[in-house]
Amino acid sequence: MTTYPARYPGATWRPVPHHSPGLILPPRGFLPHVQMGRGSLLGWFSNARSGVSSHLWLGYDGELEQYVDLTRKAWAEAAGNPYWISCECEGTAAEDYTPAQIARLAEIYRWGMGVYGWPAEVTDDPNGRGIGTHRMGGSAWGGHDCPGDLRANRRHDILAAAVALDPPTTPIKIKEKEADMPLTDAEMTTIAQRAAAETLRALWDQMCERPTGASDSWYPPRQAHAGAVLRRGYEMSGASLTAASSLEQFFVGPFAEWSARIEAAVGELRGLLDGGALAGADPAAAASIASRLDALLEAFAAPRAYTLTPGPAAAQ
Ligand SMILES: [Zn+2]
Repeated sequence: MTTYPARYPGATWRPVPHHSPGLILPPRGFLPHVQMGRGSLLGWFSNARSGVSSHLWLGYDGELEQYVDLTRKAWAEAAGNPYWISCECEGTAAEDYTPAQIARLAEIYRWGMGVYGWPAEVTDDPNGRGIGTHRMGGSAWGGHDCPGDLRANRRHDILAAAVALDPPTTPIKIKEKEADMPLTDAEMTTIAQRAAAETLRALWDQMCERPTGASDSWYPPRQAHAGAVLRRGYEMSGASLTAASSLEQFFVGPFAEWSARIEAAVGELRGLLDGGALAGADPAAAASIASRLDALLEAFAAPRAYTLTPGPAAAQ
């Protein structure tokens, strides 16, 4: 006796209460239905008011959910329920399948070819085998147009893709999205924030070290603070250069002129002494005054040049 699996290995198991025994194994084939809507059908199939279900649900992105064991009847196509595996496919009859949906449907069918011996055939016979449609069962199956011409005609592409899967690939369980789906804005923001945090951390490590004894929660300066320090330092260095330039201008200008006038005055006094201005005075006192004036003149004779701005070293 052949044992058939209850679960499709590529789907997320999300059981619903709408099912019953009596599935004839192996099933005749596979029926991709059209959802005529969007999003998981877990809620609707769990709602007592719906009274319906399908074995599988396939989203635009290739996400697969399984609602009913593959050994029991799902409630998808009335009189067809005992013979067929059903899969609701997200979208409308006016919409083509997405490439991901085609790929998943092909994988399911190729899996069924191995497990159930499904033929590599498209069928429109409710008593046949292969990839069928809901509408082929007519009124006995509820009288639906499902899945519409566009998707019904896609069965040939699904079959071709399934046959091309040889040996059959192991179905890939897709929980949320394809690995090659574009990143969302939120995901990109998270990545950018983490990158910025790492950059700031690296900058901080280069700027300085945490003070000795500071705790791990010690608050590091923000990047804006570091920028303000740099700007303030630049401004202060500029102010210092301006002040130095002012001092230099003073020494070579007003100060030099003032000291030159004093030097001249001292020289005149010394000349008066030489001319006998203190004749008759105490010779010792006169000699003392002359000595002091000579000392002043000697001091004034020393260089009085002051260079504050950076430049070539002055020759001695
Ligand atoms: Zn249907």
